[in-house]
Amino acid sequence: MIYRTFHDLKLSQLGFGCMRFALDPATGEIDQAKVDAMFDLAIREGVNYFDTAYPYLGGKSETAMAEALSRYPRDSYYIADKFPGHSLTAPIDNIALFHVSLKKCRTDYFDFYLLHNITEWSVKYYESEEYHIIPDMLRMKKEGKIRHLGFSFHGGPKLLEEFLTRHEGEFDFVQIQLNYLDWTLQQAKEKYEIITRHGLGVWVMEPLRGGKLAVLPESESAKLRQNNAPSDSGLPASDASYAFRFLQELPGVMVILSGMNEVFQVEDNLRTFREPNPLTDKERSTLLEIAEALKTGVPCTSCRYCCDGCPVGLDIPYLLQCYNDFKFANSMTPSMRLDALAEDKRPAACISCGQCEHACPHGIKVPAVLAELADIYEKGPHWADQVKLRQKSIQEDLRS
Ligand code: SF4
Ligand code: SF4
Repeated sequence: MIYRTFHDLKLSQLGFGCMRFALDPATGEIDQAKVDAMFDLAIREGVNYFDTAYPYLGGKSETAMAEALSRYPRDSYYIADKFPGHSLTAPIDNIALFHVSLKKCRTDYFDFYLLHNITEWSVKYYESEEYHIIPDMLRMKKEGKIRHLGFSFHGGPKLLEEFLTRHEGEFDFVQIQLNYLDWTLQQAKEKYEIITRHGLGVWVMEPLRGGKLAVLPESESAKLRQNNAPSDSGLPASDASYAFRFLQELPGVMVILSGMNEVFQVEDNLRTFREPNPLTDKERSTLLEIAEALKTGVPCTSCRYCCDGCPVGLDIPYLLQCYNDFKFANSMTPSMRLDALAEDKRPAACISCGQCEHACPHGIKVPAVLAELADIYEKGPHWADQVKLRQKSIQEDLRS
């Protein structure tokens, strides 16, 4: 197993993400026997990092993870959990909710604890004096109930830089969506560089982009196979193994989370993380070439040449990132980021003057793209509506 040293800890670089446990088709409940078997295999091969979150699997991930880990000594593994500040619409008793998670995880401390999903939308709640989330979590850290405090992040590089600057010294690590596709599609390279510049550990989520990089279209997969990558198992190297190897060698990347729900995925990942196997230059360039082929949106490079002349002051590259994200996958993140904007800064505010189209070196037909984005956004769903339901269920948890 590849390990990374973080402060005084030896972390397996492969982290077990607990957001996608398989369900028993008969009962619709988590298949605990399968979770136990996957954990046994992973632990036997050296995995020691397990990541859950309060809302995963309707709140059942925490308990299933705890059940599987209860068969091992508490000091033989590390648990990461998350505070759902992105799901709040009113202040709650943060400490009480933190204790709900401790109880569900059958522990009295978290090795790693994260503010869940900071974006342009949720940052105002996380930083609100009234919600008092960050001071409460810093208190839990001071009391030893949190060993390392971090946050997961889905916003843009500008917010990341500003947030880290405002909170210098408060956080130990940042978890971002990082993979060879988002390296450019979601400006993950810039975010990775910001985190390392601030001297913090980089935790990776979505290394396979929700599974899309685990099974590539045949034409793209064939490009990888042409490289004849070595495989000590006798099996052909999987598409997923290349995606992980792209991340393994990045300095500062401590943990790469994989949401495994089948034993064969655990076995394949364990092969990939058995020992370092750096990509060749050819393999790396092939992955970046595949990333370009997979992109379905517009080729905006965020150069901002178009921005100064926009008569309504739209942040055009920000809007185009949301558009690209909508086009690539069905996710709430772009909707969340659009919800965070004032109404007169959303795509529907574009008056189709065409200035940006003339300024753009890539000839992107911005007004038409923004009209399409406005239409997609209008149809929803909207994060603001989802959050109302989540807040209700948090309050029920606190009452019970
Ligand atoms: S077309 Fe729309 S986005 Fe482009 S400059 Fe005009 S108002 Fe701004
Ligand atoms: S000029 Fe084109 S590439 Fe540059 S930010 Fe604007 S839309 Fe994107």
